[in-house]
Amino acid sequence: MTMNTKNSDEFAEQVVGALHAVLKRKSAPLHEPCFDGNEWRYIKECLDSTFVSSVGKFVDRFESELANFTGAKYVVAVVNGTAALHTSLKLVGVIQNDEVLLPALSFIASANAISYCNAIPHFVDIEESTLGIDCRKLRDYLESNTEIRDSRCFNKKTGRLVRSIVVLHTFGHPADIDGLLGISKDFNISLVEDAAESIGSFYNGQHTGTFGEYGILSFNGNKTITTGGGGAILTNCKLKAVAAKHLTTTAKLPHAWEYMHDEIGFNYRLPNLNAALGCAQLENLPQMLLKKRDLFKRYRDEFLKLEGIKLFEEPQNCISNYWLQTLVLDRGNEGLLESILKVTNGDGYMTRPAWRLIPHLSPYLNCPSMDISVAESLSKRILNIPSGAGL
Ligand SMILES: *Cc1c(COP(=O)(O)O)cnc(C)c1O
Repeated sequence: MTMNTKNSDEFAEQVVGALHAVLKRKSAPLHEPCFDGNEWRYIKECLDSTFVSSVGKFVDRFESELANFTGAKYVVAVVNGTAALHTSLKLVGVIQNDEVLLPALSFIASANAISYCNAIPHFVDIEESTLGIDCRKLRDYLESNTEIRDSRCFNKKTGRLVRSIVVLHTFGHPADIDGLLGISKDFNISLVEDAAESIGSFYNGQHTGTFGEYGILSFNGNKTITTGGGGAILTNCKLKAVAAKHLTTTAKLPHAWEYMHDEIGFNYRLPNLNAALGCAQLENLPQMLLKKRDLFKRYRDEFLKLEGIKLFEEPQNCISNYWLQTLVLDRGNEGLLESILKVTNGDGYMTRPAWRLIPHLSPYLNCPSMDISVAESLSKRILNIPSGAGL
């Protein structure tokens, strides 16, 4: 069904009606954290112990509980997700003038982390079924636009090495991991997973962020669980984990009193205070995931009644954490997005369009890119609606 502007306000009112029917409250933020477990207790323990900063038992505990939950063999807690991604890219060997592939539709942190390595983001298209990288399209593109020399992949046009690929599990929905692992292997491009949005999301029963050489999580305030600010690096390789810990803790060599550093490291440690919050949040994560799934079902039942718009559902063989509930307008209905945003926000329901595509933002206008027509279309049709576990 396509509509003209005349009835777009009417349609927006129907969206408000559906939100109201599900949420049964007059307003709702996009994603509010829930602190109804041991948060106060653990933070107080931190204060009482004086260990609020970069060492303390909660950091170790948070790392080992994250490893338990995700099945990653090793976890390194860091100060935020962007730092986790920066570190991971450095450790897979991304250096100046390398190209790193990433989806055009992502949060800008994905591209910034590449830039921090003085490397160049190279944008790829996404698919409507996962909202993640379209592997078939990417494979065709690489076949005609790159060449393998000394078993490494070079961009034929720019002559630069295509070193790595960053995959995003968009809004919590797992991307096509099998397709990506195939591309990574066939073109010798290392896979790094930006799982910032997908704690609690699984692909064929395995947690997102554990397939690539490294995976990263974010615990920013708007994510499924929060540490205030925070992130983590996941890996199944002991050497990679040791390297990540070293680089994120100023590259200090272990010694009882000497300050010796063997490279230019980063102060990317997660403070104990934040880790304490994380430990309490993790205890409630399974509960929150159930509530978010329940919210999805309630939304789905309600939005089924509206024509021309669909609630995005987890891809096949995947379990999504449903971080941000996502409505997708049918093709042809792009014109409705503005008025839905205006009317829902005006009514107190916080809704947001998808991020502006990164290749359309001024710092990234001149980066290499494949045809990104699907990302361009989807970015005009996506709407995130209130998604917190407390709703
Ligand atoms: C949240 C997020 C990050 C990391 O964010 P921080 O605020 O640095 O923790 C990275 N990539 C994506 C896609 C994100 O959504």
